[in-house]
Amino acid sequence: MIIMKFGGTSVGSAERIKAVARLAASYKEPKMVVLSAMSGTTNSLLEIADSLAKKNTGAAHERINLLEKKYHFVADELFKEGEYREMSHDLLREHFSYIRSFTLDLFTANEIKCMAAQGELMSTALFELYCRESGIASVLLPALNFMRIDREQEPDHFYIKENLGRELEKYPGKSFFITQGFICRNAFGEVDNLKRGGSDYSAALIGVAMNASAIQIWTDIDGFHDNDPRFVKNTHAIAELSFDEAAELAYFGAKILHPSTILPAKVAGIPVIIKNTLNPGAAGTTITDKASGKGIKAIAAKDGITAIRVKSGRMLLAYGFMRKVFEIFEIYKTPIDMITTSEISVSLTIDDTSRLSRIIDDLKHYGTVETDQDHTIISAVGEGIAEGSGAAQSVFNALSGIPVRMISYGGSQHNISILIPSSFKNQALNALSAHLFNQ
Ligand code: ASP
Ligand code: MG
Repeated sequence: MIIMKFGGTSVGSAERIKAVARLAASYKEPKMVVLSAMSGTTNSLLEIADSLAKKNTGAAHERINLLEKKYHFVADELFKEGEYREMSHDLLREHFSYIRSFTLDLFTANEIKCMAAQGELMSTALFELYCRESGIASVLLPALNFMRIDREQEPDHFYIKENLGRELEKYPGKSFFITQGFICRNAFGEVDNLKRGGSDYSAALIGVAMNASAIQIWTDIDGFHDNDPRFVKNTHAIAELSFDEAAELAYFGAKILHPSTILPAKVAGIPVIIKNTLNPGAAGTTITDKASGKGIKAIAAKDGITAIRVKSGRMLLAYGFMRKVFEIFEIYKTPIDMITTSEISVSLTIDDTSRLSRIIDDLKHYGTVETDQDHTIISAVGEGIAEGSGAAQSVFNALSGIPVRMISYGGSQHNISILIPSSFKNQALNALSAHLFNQ
């Protein structure tokens, strides 16, 4: 069994949906197709939810009407006249009357999740109808019947495996399954999700639960590139990455893959393959437990970083200081990305600033606190680059003239991270490509 996950742009129009159906059918292995919502849909649904939360029913109605129009247009393009076209319009009318029902009543936090789930529910339903019309024998498995997170918002692997297994048993002899990415139920059985971009994560969790032979992530680019193509010209796709390299790149800003996707695949030893729907013949990036090649393979950048420096005379020769500092971040459930220390101060970075003021208030008990916003972490990634390979020197040579706020080196074997003001990001990325990859 292989997992084939298609992202929002891959199913972003009637034409794309048709191409994806053909593409999936061209793979002869048994498969589970995991779909995102059509591109832009989840954003629209969340905007509708936001309008409702602000009691702006007029704006919500306007947005709902617009989205509904778009979907009926897709249905018209997707189906020839007749039965399937009728079915698709009926199906969409049902979803939109459900979406509209929220405009009549109180709007709660959980209803935002129910609203956000409609995108994947509609894309998969349309896809399944299209497969049926085209004579591709397929089965739509509702993700809400098996995908589940626990009280800590972590996937409930046991539940997923048991229930997905039970769903699959209902269809002996079938080999083309379709399900929704992103959506799940929580520990209370309510509709929930795996956070924005979570369809990749769904694909990995399903792949692990089914012991798939590969988890394919189909997107709109030929795999991981050696630098961010939005800022640097002439970047190149990378043929092979190790799980660790891919995890670092995904975490430190490569938008191509949701960062949580790698861990379950790595634990289960299932290769993750990034492929391009617009260019299916391209090799893409294959991610396995093997590292290949030497040196820096790729650069990634993560924006929206805030650096916090805590300076305290009390830190000098003291123990337990770090624990107290870290505890504050733990209390406010705020992950730390980078840290550096000197004898009397510690600097660290966060990207979630929703609890920043409370964090600062608590840190002030231990010393003076300074914060710097609008920073970017630039990461150079490659297996073994932190081991006297000269990689650090190349990175610093490339970055000469750029103000560096923090450096993290040696924390892992495969990452050198540098914190710079975001206004220097473009310059830094281009200088690194020029220096490291002769571009
Ligand atoms: N549709 C969801 C989102 O836009 C999940 C995904 O596409 O991966 O975040
Ligand atoms: Mg995505």
